[in-house]
Amino acid sequence: MYKKTKIYKKMKKLLKFGRTKYFLILAVAKFNEIFFKEIPCTKKTKQCSKNRKSRYLKCHNVGKNIPICCATHLYEMLKDTVRCLEKNNIKYFIAYGTLLGAVRHKGLIPWDNDLDLIILDKDSKRVYELLNKSFKDKYHITSGKFDGIGSDVLIRVDYSAINSLHIDLFPCKTDKENIYVEHNDILKYKKIFPLQKIKFYDIEVFAPNDIQYCLDYFYGKGYMEYACKQWMLSDKKTKITDFSPAKIKLN
Ligand SMILES: [Zn+2]
Repeated sequence: MYKKTKIYKKMKKLLKFGRTKYFLILAVAKFNEIFFKEIPCTKKTKQCSKNRKSRYLKCHNVGKNIPICCATHLYEMLKDTVRCLEKNNIKYFIAYGTLLGAVRHKGLIPWDNDLDLIILDKDSKRVYELLNKSFKDKYHITSGKFDGIGSDVLIRVDYSAINSLHIDLFPCKTDKENIYVEHNDILKYKKIFPLQKIKFYDIEVFAPNDIQYCLDYFYGKGYMEYACKQWMLSDKKTKITDFSPAKIKLN
């Protein structure tokens, strides 16, 4: 009984701290929004949602759209990465929020802040080496197990060592029937391959064959009308009225 009370008190303290921290972050974000000018993030700064000096601090967490600088960096990284993979005949396809964005917004979901690609497990080592060789001086490439993403090793392309805007490349295993992806997702092989091209802003990227099957699997029904709960896309079930993608600055 004594032990239980002690644990209970500890938990209560932790919870209280968590809540205080959350409110402090919200207060700083609000303060920044009012008093800071819009300063675009670069390779030498943190990404806006993690930068205390940015008015967009925690922007994607409170359901606000990501700023044009972040969306543009993500778009450029995707363009470079898929070009490199395609040039080297490496299979990939967009998944999760990136696929949903391509279908629903024809680009990045305005309140998303990363990109997801799936590659074949057998290509994993080659992709890592290739990206490292191609973008050694441009981006920051790492491979490993990242917090909260499960157990498989994945490849991450960060905008820089400081700015953590990123693309995740999830390796998947396949057999004749299924493909096995992160988060213990099992998709039907025939629904994924052969891949097809789909528009993402002004470029085309590879997507699964049966897109509706995939999005139903990842997000359930209603993904075309409501913002999804998962992956910080939105905390509430919000009806979407504006279907334009996150704003980017094209050169
Ligand atoms: Zn930014």
